[in-house]
Amino acid sequence: MSLSITHLGTGSRGNATLLATDASKVLIDQGFSGKELQRRLRQLEIDPTEIDGIVISHHHGDHGGGAAIANKRWGIPLFSNFRTATALGLDLVGGVTLFEDLERLEIGADISLLPIPVPHDGADNVGFIASRGTGERAAVFTDLGSWTDEIIQHLRGCSHISIEANYDHRRLWEGPYTNSLKERISSRGGHLSNQQTGELLGKVVNEQTKSIVLTHLSEQNNRPHLAESTVLYHIDELFEGDIAISLQDGPLFSHFIGQADTEMLTSGLL
Ligand SMILES: [Zn+2]
Ligand SMILES: [Zn+2]
Repeated sequence: MSLSITHLGTGSRGNATLLATDASKVLIDQGFSGKELQRRLRQLEIDPTEIDGIVISHHHGDHGGGAAIANKRWGIPLFSNFRTATALGLDLVGGVTLFEDLERLEIGADISLLPIPVPHDGADNVGFIASRGTGERAAVFTDLGSWTDEIIQHLRGCSHISIEANYDHRRLWEGPYTNSLKERISSRGGHLSNQQTGELLGKVVNEQTKSIVLTHLSEQNNRPHLAESTVLYHIDELFEGDIAISLQDGPLFSHFIGQADTEMLTSGLL
């Protein structure tokens, strides 16, 4: 009776996150080649034809670049908002199901997703709140330069939160990028720094938060230990769950929400 969250890989070279129940499988984003998606799913003993749908957060290539090929090759239904669909050149008649912000999507037999708008320059980006029926909720948010009250409201009380921790502030500013790129990454419509992610999590983590995954770390401007220690500094008093990091390679681990204790025992997680 659980929903699993498994990152097939996150970062500027491709993102895809698998949500799975006994009855349904959904991908959030498909930024890999068809071959690479197939290879990563095979590690979980899943064939691409088993995927019930791909929801696309925004049109940037590392999130939506492989969606059309997955639709064409395996007939996987696509879901996105209008701007993302047009920017990716998806077939608006029959090629994609369009959704609006805050319009609940039911995909497969029992996976429910709520798209929440997030600030990201030049894109109509959304984060997703996922649940199996009306049970516990998981949040998957990436590529946002800042947050809104609405984001805080939806993240609070989620059992699982996957969120980007893109860059370490000092590494970005002392690094080789041009000033204009540094400014764009750290702007309101860019990406979250480790510190910002820590501050945001400090506002939403509570006793219901069981697991956190930090995603989309910049290979140039971040390091896993910096992301984890900076975030933990902000939530240490509040958080007793499991924190992990998803890098470009994967899948490496899964998190489960809404799981009965007996199920957790059999999967060795207790
Ligand atoms: Zn991205
Ligand atoms: Zn992006």
